[in-house]
Amino acid sequence: MNEYRETNRGWIEVVCGPMFSGKSEELIRRLRRAQIARLGVLAFKPRIDNRYSEDSIASHSEQLIPCIQIEKVSEIMDHIRPDTEVVGIDEVQFLGPEALDVCRDLSARGIRVICAGLDMDYRARPWPPLPELLAIAEYITKMAAICMVCGNPASRTQRKVLGGDLVLIGSQDSYEARCRRCHTVDEGVQTEIF
Ligand code: ADP
Ligand code: ZN
Repeated sequence: MNEYRETNRGWIEVVCGPMFSGKSEELIRRLRRAQIARLGVLAFKPRIDNRYSEDSIASHSEQLIPCIQIEKVSEIMDHIRPDTEVVGIDEVQFLGPEALDVCRDLSARGIRVICAGLDMDYRARPWPPLPELLAIAEYITKMAAICMVCGNPASRTQRKVLGGDLVLIGSQDSYEARCRRCHTVDEGVQTEIF
């Protein structure tokens, strides 16, 4: 017998898609419902994301849920208590490949793990560890935003400022959602090869 409460919820859910597709809203919705069910819920996000609120998961539509900020994904394990039944992780693309082991560990303990994150970077390249996480997850949801050019469903994140690092923290000023046809990379070239 392990010290954790017996549940039947040991699985991994992933909510992915581009920026503005509603990943954080969906994560917040699932965590709220778990709280309504009186489950022991913990939410985490990497410290890198400082938009809107320091100690909450926040959506672009300004919905909030309190969370613990972490530097490294392994810190999640320090916060797990015997009554923890559901763990939410936002912006999981910033937590690196160690996120896989942590999600596996948590689900093996009977904890329902809900991860939200970007599946592609601004150049439309798969963003580790999302591809691997999607492969080991029981349930995956791919969200679409609205393309800011043509209004079709958008699967990609367009960077509006040129150059710089892969990770550039920002929101509406720096990024917008685009569909496959309207998405371009830095050089203004359509991303057809992806
Ligand atoms: P994500 O976590 O995927 O970045 P959020 O959950 O934070 O998305 O925000 C989703 C909200 O963003 C939508 O409900 C809508 O109010 C707003 N929004 C702004 N731009 C767009 C867009 N291009 N497509 C869809 N929603 C958008
Ligand atoms: Zn478009």
